[in-house]
Amino acid sequence: MKKATVVGAGLVGSLWTALLAKRGYRVDVYERRTDSRKAGYAGGRSINLALSNRGWKALERAGLAEAIAREAIPMSHRVMHAVDGSLVRQPYGKDGQAIYSVSRGGLNEQLMTLAEQSGNVHLHFDRRCVDVDLKSGAAAFESGDGSLERVEPGLLFATDGAYSAIRSAMIKTDRYQYQQQYIDHGYKELHIPAGPNGAYQMEKNALHIWPRGGYMLIALPNPDGSFTLTLFFAWEGPESFASLPTTDDAEAFFARIFPDALSLMPDFRAQWDTNPASSLVIMRCDPWQFNGTVALIGDAAHAIVPFYGQGMNAGFEDCTVLDDLLDAHGEDWPNVLPEYSRIQKPNGDAIAELALLNFIEMRDLVGQPEFLLQKKIEAWFSNKHPDRWTPLYTQVTFSHTPYAEALANGRRQEAIMREVMALPDLEERWDSADVEALLLERTTR
Ligand SMILES: Cc1cc2nc3c(=O)[nH]c(=O)nc-3n(C[C@H](O)[C@H](O)[C@H](O)COP(=O)(O)OP(=O)(O)OC[C@H]3O[C@@H](n4cnc5c(N)ncnc54)[C@H](O)[C@@H]3O)c2cc1C
Repeated sequence: MKKATVVGAGLVGSLWTALLAKRGYRVDVYERRTDSRKAGYAGGRSINLALSNRGWKALERAGLAEAIAREAIPMSHRVMHAVDGSLVRQPYGKDGQAIYSVSRGGLNEQLMTLAEQSGNVHLHFDRRCVDVDLKSGAAAFESGDGSLERVEPGLLFATDGAYSAIRSAMIKTDRYQYQQQYIDHGYKELHIPAGPNGAYQMEKNALHIWPRGGYMLIALPNPDGSFTLTLFFAWEGPESFASLPTTDDAEAFFARIFPDALSLMPDFRAQWDTNPASSLVIMRCDPWQFNGTVALIGDAAHAIVPFYGQGMNAGFEDCTVLDDLLDAHGEDWPNVLPEYSRIQKPNGDAIAELALLNFIEMRDLVGQPEFLLQKKIEAWFSNKHPDRWTPLYTQVTFSHTPYAEALANGRRQEAIMREVMALPDLEERWDSADVEALLLERTTR
């Protein structure tokens, strides 16, 4: 029988396991944590996530899209909250296009159960990968009681996240490229409870943003009427975690900067004290495979900052790409794995860059009238001439255009829009024939 080992039963590992099982593999999955379906989900870093088209495609392939869609909450637009409480809405795409808020823990558990139901999957919890022989794919796993279990040589998939043990072993091999970058910001999660009878206390079908220049607060809806909030904030500096040493300082800051959000969190003080602040890291490495036997998938290959809502979606797309390669070449792993690494590495680099750029857009630009005008012009031109212009956000979120191609297109478009935005009296004539003519000329192929 065909066999494989998967290290890490997170979002990507569970999905990849389900796809391998569909191909008739017996899969042994080793996960460091205990089974959250029995013990309750505790280890997740964010309670909900934004799922978009790349993610849905992989879920469909695994046969899970319908079940996830039942609980997923569509968010068709952003709602920007100004300090004075006024709101501005900006659609993410065309009518019917939305990103979806899903529970991280719920999705992970459904994926694990789906993988297990194939009958050929064995999940081993409380097993931490501590050693790997990259040449053969053999590995060793330690249990909570200190005992070691060894896995025979064979196909090995590392889906053990940003701090991958398998990638650590690869780093020690000759000419291996690796870069780790912590950004100056960290994050803290907060929670707005449901109102009476489970009512949403803010607009449900939206991603809420409080853009404040160098930092921001965001909120995504949960099915129970609550919202999960995330404050992205510098570690050091005049407005930073370090500048708020006491709970009183934090509360006074929120009262000044995020008054409408604070008014919806009666237990803000307890939350601030209890919830940890966590760091944000980017990991880049190359190649994503070793010897045609061991492959990195998901955050193990490309941890990125979360500002485009694409980390999980990118990891799920890795699975789709690998699955496509297996369809095209058969299960010729020594050829498939290098090809997977060659195709996906530039896309991993591109989404890492796009995610950093989107942080500036979200925390700063979305609050500026000029930026909103630019997006309005792009949407208008794209509606009139869809063959000439697809907004960058749409390419990244609602299409399957490789990220590297989307980034290159986005750079070209930004140069054109700089020219358009410099036109005089644009506010009055943004949808005029001469603006359209300029855009048509610049996008002539
Ligand atoms: C604040 C925040 C918000 C985010 N929001 C979004 C979003 O809206 N949309 C989106 O698409 N992405 C988002 N992401 C990114 C997303 O969380 C990750 O890209 C995704 O979790 C990656 O999945 P993974 O399975 O590769 O890694 P992980 O989810 O990290 O899973 C790795 C698994 O491996 C296990 N493991 C680790 N080491 C070992 C070991 N040595 N042995 C055995 N098991 C091990 C871990 O316990 C874990 O279960 C966000 C991330 C953050 C931090």
